[in-house]
Amino acid sequence: MDPTDPISFDKAKLIGSVTLGEKEGDPTAFELDGAYHRANRGLIEFVEVFRNETEFLYSLLEATQSKTIESPAGRTEKIFIDVVIIAHANEPNWKKFEKNDDNEALVDRLVRVDVGNNVRLNEQIEIVKKLTRPTCHLAPQTLETLAMFTILTRIQPSEQVKDLISKVLIYNGDDTEIDAPSAAELRAERPRDGWIGISNRDAAKILEKAIGIRQPGEESCVAPPDLLKVISEFCANAKKPIPVELIETVTDWYAAMIATQFTSIGKDCQDICIRYYENYTAAIIKLLRGETLSPEAENLVNIVESRLPNDDGEKNALRQLIIEQKFSDTSLAIKSGIYDYVAQEVIIPKLDKLIVQGNHEDLNENDRLSLKYFQEHFRALGYCDRCFKTVAEWLINSGLLQ
Ligand SMILES: [Zn+2]
Repeated sequence: MDPTDPISFDKAKLIGSVTLGEKEGDPTAFELDGAYHRANRGLIEFVEVFRNETEFLYSLLEATQSKTIESPAGRTEKIFIDVVIIAHANEPNWKKFEKNDDNEALVDRLVRVDVGNNVRLNEQIEIVKKLTRPTCHLAPQTLETLAMFTILTRIQPSEQVKDLISKVLIYNGDDTEIDAPSAAELRAERPRDGWIGISNRDAAKILEKAIGIRQPGEESCVAPPDLLKVISEFCANAKKPIPVELIETVTDWYAAMIATQFTSIGKDCQDICIRYYENYTAAIIKLLRGETLSPEAENLVNIVESRLPNDDGEKNALRQLIIEQKFSDTSLAIKSGIYDYVAQEVIIPKLDKLIVQGNHEDLNENDRLSLKYFQEHFRALGYCDRCFKTVAEWLINSGLLQ
């Protein structure tokens, strides 16, 4: 039952009505279709109950005290009901209602159940999804970042855990250290967790704004860096102050997660390229020996050599050089743990050239192959080209891959 305003308030919505013109006392004249009748032997839910007119609330007194409601005929007859009544309101409305002595009779008949805002990360993701039903593409971790920020505003630091992120993870039921406190212990320490911070409506507004900031004609898609920008603006203009450290906390949390992903995928890509080149080297050794290649090996050689000169003599000289230089030495170095080569010398400069400088020309085939796999890995994870570019740019500009 939604709250009714004074103008459209009609008791018939609650207790039914009597059909006009019917014979007085005729049972068929009664329209027992009010909310109480429909909920009988079941459950009735009053939404934002204290926003209703006082007259509306009187029916609750009788229903809770004596399990009866007024008859639509409006005389002394009462109608028995057997119904569970649930009513909800926000905290300020409840406090206002409770303080008013006129409401004492109803306050006494209520069993108050406190339900704060959600503080579980996984559930918060579902809440935002349900509230906004985003139609555009969202990069991986976009909803997680918004949910993390929302929950960070709702909880207070604990003496028992090292930082707020650890507290969020405990509330979320994630695996934590053996001696970590339980969620119940943390809640007992800070009973106001979930009663402060931003509402779900505000969280939805942040996402909607991030979706709306794309320019006309630009591909509609939101990545966490877009969202972090909107979060900063939101905090700057928020009615209740939000500590600036929370933006830093959520930014660092996201950055650490995404930098690890980029680095690890970069390494995977390099491994794939190394395998490619090992297969390529094996194929050209066969060619130089005059052996025939399998169709797959032939295709690989064609891809790798697409930029080499067409002249067979020159091509063979280059093939000889590639074998002599033992390209696989590089792979051995990387496999044996010299990872700097991959991160500092290969992946970052290539991303920088491709994404920041928009320069594809002086990438060699090895680079192209690395990048191709790099992007393909990210596509498989759910990135479109636009949000991959946004995230990569953000990482490179922030120096987090260094
Ligand atoms: Zn996208």
